[in-house]
Amino acid sequence: MLLFKRPKGTSDIYGTNMLRTKRVEGILKELMLNWGYSEIRTPIFESTELFDRSVGDTSDIVQKEMYTFRDKGGRSLTLRPEGTAPVVRAYLENSLTNYGKPMRLFYLGPMFRYEKPQAGRMRQFQQFGIELIGSSSPLAEVEVFQILMDMLDRLNVKDWQFHINTVGCQNCRDEYIKALKEYYRPLLPNLCSDCQRRFETNVLRLLDCKNPQCAPYKKDAPHFIDHVCEDCKRHFDAVTSSLDALHIPYVIDHYLVRGLDYYTRTAFEVKYREGSQDALLGGGRYDLLIEQFGGNPTPAIGFAVSIERLLLASKDLDTPSEHPLVYVVTFDKSRLQGAELAFELRRAGIPTVTDVMGRNLSNQMKEANRLGVCYAIIIGEEELKVNEFTVKDMKTGEQHLVNREDIREYILSHSC
Ligand SMILES: [Zn+2]
Ligand SMILES: [Zn+2]
Repeated sequence: MLLFKRPKGTSDIYGTNMLRTKRVEGILKELMLNWGYSEIRTPIFESTELFDRSVGDTSDIVQKEMYTFRDKGGRSLTLRPEGTAPVVRAYLENSLTNYGKPMRLFYLGPMFRYEKPQAGRMRQFQQFGIELIGSSSPLAEVEVFQILMDMLDRLNVKDWQFHINTVGCQNCRDEYIKALKEYYRPLLPNLCSDCQRRFETNVLRLLDCKNPQCAPYKKDAPHFIDHVCEDCKRHFDAVTSSLDALHIPYVIDHYLVRGLDYYTRTAFEVKYREGSQDALLGGGRYDLLIEQFGGNPTPAIGFAVSIERLLLASKDLDTPSEHPLVYVVTFDKSRLQGAELAFELRRAGIPTVTDVMGRNLSNQMKEANRLGVCYAIIIGEEELKVNEFTVKDMKTGEQHLVNREDIREYILSHSC
């Protein structure tokens, strides 16, 4: 019986899955290079307060999903459940403000949430996100949406829909919350227990309750856009008219609120497949967060997406293979010559493997076949005597004797 199993909601990534993961991550990094975004890596854990005060202490993330622990010094730390708050913390702490605006950053790394595991939703997941810091202009939205389109296109994700809404600002959000409470108050007895609890603490969350019991009441709930201030309304109109002008298709989703407290004005999601409940990715503006963390007032916008979900949505993406080019086949007396040649080839940039099991010649040829190499270099007894090794093209079966000193050039000048 096995003694150990991985923790629930985590995964071991290897083989084809690893190749696909690397492919997706490679495409994302290339995308970022093209858009002038630079990578930032922040710690896996941060002070718990960082998330309490940004994501919001009434949010599901903070209330139910954080991996929080005390270290040996008694500090309360949390495995990061999301990337924006750490990036903003790092932006201020390292005075990245001095580099001028806008600041274009992206991150890629593991995040942790104690959730019910299901396809594309793990307790440790790999997240990619971008942050465009410093612009309050709708042009920032345009850039972020264009990046999204470019990303989904490069990843060959089809059937997606872009949903947007405004979630107001500090001046107008309370107006909407009031209207929403007035609407839901008489309906409370009909709602699920989660919603009854959230009604007092975070009534916005009622809008994304997935319980079928609550769903029918949503359709008559007031809309954010009818309760926001003039500035927020003007901003939202500018965003939608820019999207129209650029022929970027979108759906105004009046009940999109996102689960994080720090969003202001524009909030958005990409839904994968029509009618799907779950968002493929989400993001929004967070114009107040930087000031809230002690910086100068600095508007910003970003989005995040898990690699696991992108993998589910980009099934058609071709998977690269990753196999060595050369297998050096040896016999008892040529093992070390084989190791030396393989070493030289690798140093010349030629992916090469050789036997470490002490197998006989024919079993090594089987192994070379299994690995799918292009060439087998055979150092048999005869070859060793004349210092000319057999190079076998594994596809055509053609063989040539090549002088030991010329082998590297030979492989380099022949394509696979
Ligand atoms: Zn407003
Ligand atoms: Zn509910």
